[in-house]
Amino acid sequence: MTSHKRAPRSIVRTIFSRPVTETTSGPPPVKPPTTTSVDLRGSLQLRHVDAGSCNGCELEIASAFGPTYDAARFGARLVASPRHADGLLITGVVTRNMYGPLVRALAATPQPNVIVACGDCAVNGGMFASAYGVASRLDEIVEPDVRIEGCPPHPNEIIHALRSLTEL
Ligand code: SF4
Repeated sequence: MTSHKRAPRSIVRTIFSRPVTETTSGPPPVKPPTTTSVDLRGSLQLRHVDAGSCNGCELEIASAFGPTYDAARFGARLVASPRHADGLLITGVVTRNMYGPLVRALAATPQPNVIVACGDCAVNGGMFASAYGVASRLDEIVEPDVRIEGCPPHPNEIIHALRSLTEL
């Protein structure tokens, strides 16, 4: 017969306690500052945040980073975490559901960073600016450093904007 040892209380407390690194309820009350003083020549790592897009912009971003347009040729890459990024590539007008996650992603992106607004919705609210589920325009939360207009923008326009940062 096997005997079952009880786990130490400290381990049980760790397993069932909430994470202490970030809060999960509600957005932080402050706007994180941003600056364009980061040197991105030759290498640009971006975390994409869909703040409430219709997914049209995502199709064009996927194409811009895919094998046909291949943004990586010009030093631009998408990364999995804002903590590993030089900045954020943001699509969509900011919906109520995505306001908090967007502000937390901004806070998690190391400073100095670059904010790229991709598509009319991110640039000026676009066709969904006055929709009931919209919390705010992007530029009321953070001032974009680069604006890519279009609904959706063509992959060439996305590449052109990213090349203006990588200078390749
Ligand atoms: S800019 Fe156009 S394609 Fe992009 S999220 Fe807005 S409506 Fe969709």
